[in-house]
Amino acid sequence: MNSPVCVFGGTFNPPHLGHVRACLQAADEIDVAQVGLMPAKVPPHKQTDGVSEHHRVAMVKHACEASERLYPQLIELELPEPSYSIKTLQALREQHPHAPLIFIIGEDSWRNLTSWHQWQQLSQLCHLLILRRATTEPPLASELVAFADAHGTDDVQRLHTELSGLVYFAQTGLQPISSTQLRKWLGAEASAPESAQVDDWVSQSVLHYIKENRLYV
Ligand code: ATP
Repeated sequence: MNSPVCVFGGTFNPPHLGHVRACLQAADEIDVAQVGLMPAKVPPHKQTDGVSEHHRVAMVKHACEASERLYPQLIELELPEPSYSIKTLQALREQHPHAPLIFIIGEDSWRNLTSWHQWQQLSQLCHLLILRRATTEPPLASELVAFADAHGTDDVQRLHTELSGLVYFAQTGLQPISSTQLRKWLGAEASAPESAQVDDWVSQSVLHYIKENRLYV
């Protein structure tokens, strides 16, 4: 069995230190060496406020400079549309037939999972690792509770010895930030104290890129 391949999908508009810290803590917790930050093709239900894929990719590359354990995983952007996580995971599985595949998502994404295309089939391709996030929305669907009952584990070792099929709830610390909040703090309407908070949650390298390209203003 090869070492696990671990990817963290998201819009990353912009990537923030909540993403970075949470996924690195999770990587420590489950003892994986590297995490790929995997920008999504923007799904139709999510707007990007005019920030292009090109900029999101550039920001993800800068975000990865925070740790040598992070790398940009751009596979989803290279696949034909329509873009679905199930297709992306299928492509990753083809690239890594003998490695456990771990797909990291936040708790809000987990709670929305039943709206994802063919979500139940994800467990045939990968493990799901859920990052804690301070949300109780949307309420957990009964199918999701049943899915977690069927697939849940707290045995880290199994993430290394089984290729797919498990749901693991990480015990990572809460990171009280979202890209939505940051877009507001970066916007022209933000007050000085709000703008100052950006420094706490965006790496210098990402922030420099945002300012240089006048994003979110
Ligand atoms: P937005 O506010 O635009 O919805 P976001 O901050 O949720 O963005 P995404 O790029 O959509 O960021 O998130 C990518 C993944 O990271 C999702 O699975 C999301 O649940 C998770 N995530 C985002 N922010 C955090 C956080 N602060 N702590 C833990 N997980 C997070």
